[in-house]
Amino acid sequence: MSDQTRIDSLRLTEVAARGLFIDGRFREPVGGARRDVISPIDGRLLTTIAEARREDVDLAVAAARRAFEAGRWSRAAPSDRRKVMLRIAELIDRHALELAVLGVRDNGTEIAMALKAEPGSAAATFRYYAEAIDKVYGEIAPTAPNVLGLVHRQPVGVVAAIVPWNFPMMIGAWKIAPALAAGNSVVLKPAEIASLSLLRLAELCAEAGLPEGVLNVVTGKGSVCGEALGLHMDVDVMAFTGSGPVGRRLLEYSARSNLKRCYLELGGKSPNIVFADAPDLEQAAKVSAYGIFRNSGQVCVAGSRLLVEEQVHDDFVARVASIAAAMRVGDPLDLATEAGAVASEDQLSKNLDFVRRAEAEGGRLVTGGGRILTETGGFYMQPTVFAGIEPSMHLAQEEVFGPVLGVMSFRGEAEAVALANSTPYGLASAVWTSNLSRAHRMVRAVRAGVVHVNTYGGADLTVPLGGIGQSGNGHDKSLHALDKFTDLKTAWISL
Ligand code: NAD
Repeated sequence: MSDQTRIDSLRLTEVAARGLFIDGRFREPVGGARRDVISPIDGRLLTTIAEARREDVDLAVAAARRAFEAGRWSRAAPSDRRKVMLRIAELIDRHALELAVLGVRDNGTEIAMALKAEPGSAAATFRYYAEAIDKVYGEIAPTAPNVLGLVHRQPVGVVAAIVPWNFPMMIGAWKIAPALAAGNSVVLKPAEIASLSLLRLAELCAEAGLPEGVLNVVTGKGSVCGEALGLHMDVDVMAFTGSGPVGRRLLEYSARSNLKRCYLELGGKSPNIVFADAPDLEQAAKVSAYGIFRNSGQVCVAGSRLLVEEQVHDDFVARVASIAAAMRVGDPLDLATEAGAVASEDQLSKNLDFVRRAEAEGGRLVTGGGRILTETGGFYMQPTVFAGIEPSMHLAQEEVFGPVLGVMSFRGEAEAVALANSTPYGLASAVWTSNLSRAHRMVRAVRAGVVHVNTYGGADLTVPLGGIGQSGNGHDKSLHALDKFTDLKTAWISL
């Protein structure tokens, strides 16, 4: 059976109403409230999820703490944790198509991308940290001979992870896998509009042998159960991916409660800088278009500001616009679709507001700008390109998190750097040039957590992902992620 045939049959399956996953099983929330899950594919009711209250968060944190203190996971040999995490990866692989289709019905990402980025990436992440954890050593300090200084790495205790809706499994795994590998217990809170695949993942973790209470999932409103996690006195670390305003709130919650450490992976307004000496303008145009429009622009590292050197500006904009106009936007469960649905009606109207404001402020609409496929009942938008964007305009300063690209023209390297660094963000970026020295100068000068050179958006687990400035302060992926979920403890021993 072809993958498309299997996807087409999975899309018709009924999605069971889910409870909260606490202490190794699904349970109804205190008070019994439920929330509708609307599929962005057709705007119809898909299923319902539990609406957690503060009391449910208390139960989840208590379960996580009990599991941590019991030590079946936290004090297990790292090689034993490795075995369970490898089994989790195996189960994710075995259920990859089911997980991907479930996630796409929930958030609208095109299935070709979801397969790679969601179960594909989640399985790889569990494998990476499973394999890493019995290879990370403590330290022996270079002390005077009459003492022995040992530096231990210990799990922090209870980790709360709050994640967004764009890639729930991938981003969820970036938090859960290193936290679990290090021996912590976790309470995970998915976004309101993308919880289903993470609830299923929790079930698979239990099937793989993760002890009860080590991973708990609470669903519901950010302002209720996310806030309860943020303010909880028994959560030791908060690992967050999402928007800047919510990130700020988490810092406040921490200050008002137990000073829990907060790691924030926030938004971006990433500059994609094309010099006239780019090695291949057509290739650069293609990668740039996909670098903003895949997943309908709902990618934190999306290259949403295109900076083009003036000699090639008009030609390059025309190339990007024609690629954008030809992109296949539509049914997210069709393997040929290049950009799926916008995740919610609310997000779609925010995107359209940006279009209206950019026009009002004098931006020149080159292609797109509108809602499409309304007859499906789903939430779809044309890939949209605006030229003539000035640094003071909203489209140059604020994250859209949708398929809207703003183009600016520049003259020479200094102006490119000034424009690139003219927002409070610093998540991703790219530089296209054939000049090796310029490439290295730009890598140093552009304020961003990642600078791609002659490509956009590539990465793997070996390298950290994190922002600077108002794009956040933590790093997901790579061995550095383990730092977030471990405490250093010194033993100072008199000899
Ligand atoms: P969001 O900040 O609205 O929500 C993120 C999570 O926070 C959700 O689970 C939500 O329920 C929860 N939340 C909302 N209000 C809360 C509160 N008061 N207290 C505690 N939790 C609360 O973000 P979103 O709309 O889901 O996702 C889009 C944002 O995420 C964009 O800004 C995007 O750039 C960012 N993002 C960043 C990265 C990265 O790696 N830096 C990756 C993906 C997405």
